[in-house]
Formats: sequence, structure tokens, C-alpha cells
Amino acid sequence: MNLLIIRLIIFAVLFLAGLKLYRMYRQWKLDHDDSMADDNHRVEGQMVRCAWCSVHVPESEALRDKGEWFCSSAHRDRYLQERQSDENE
Ligand SMILES: [Zn+2]
Repeated sequence: MNLLIIRLIIFAVLFLAGLKLYRMYRQWKLDHDDSMADDNHRVEGQMVRCAWCSVHVPESEALRDKGEWFCSSAHRDRYLQERQSDENE
């Protein structure tokens, strides 16, 4: 009978320890994912200026052409058209 109780206690302790470790791991994973997301956010947080309309857009959403940044392909096309006609004049 005593042996059974000791086994039960050992089992309970192991179970609680496992649960605690699992929770610690989950918390660590959450923190880890958060810091990873922060890093990504910082990179995406780089703002660049559209050469056509001067609006600031995140680098990840901007288009780059001929050393200039643009908020959209429409503005890129208009800017390049404008520049081309300037060169022709
Ligand atoms: Zn623009």
C-alpha cells in the first residue's frame, strides 16, 4: 500500500514538473516568436519616400527603379515617363 502511494506521489511530481516545463517552453517560444516578429517589423519599418508623390511607404511595400523609390507601379511609370520627356526636351 505504501509503495502504491509513493508511486502515485512520484507520478504526480513528474507530471507537475512536466507541465511546468511545458508551460515554460511555451512561454519561451511565445517570447522568442515575439522578438522574431519585432526584428521583422524593424526591417519592414524602414520608410522610403515615393519619388513621384513624396508619400512615405514601408520599404517592403515600395518599388525600386533607377535608384528611386515609388509607392506604386503607377507612380513609377509616371515618374519614368516624366523623366524621359525631360531628357528629350
Ligand atoms: Zn507615389
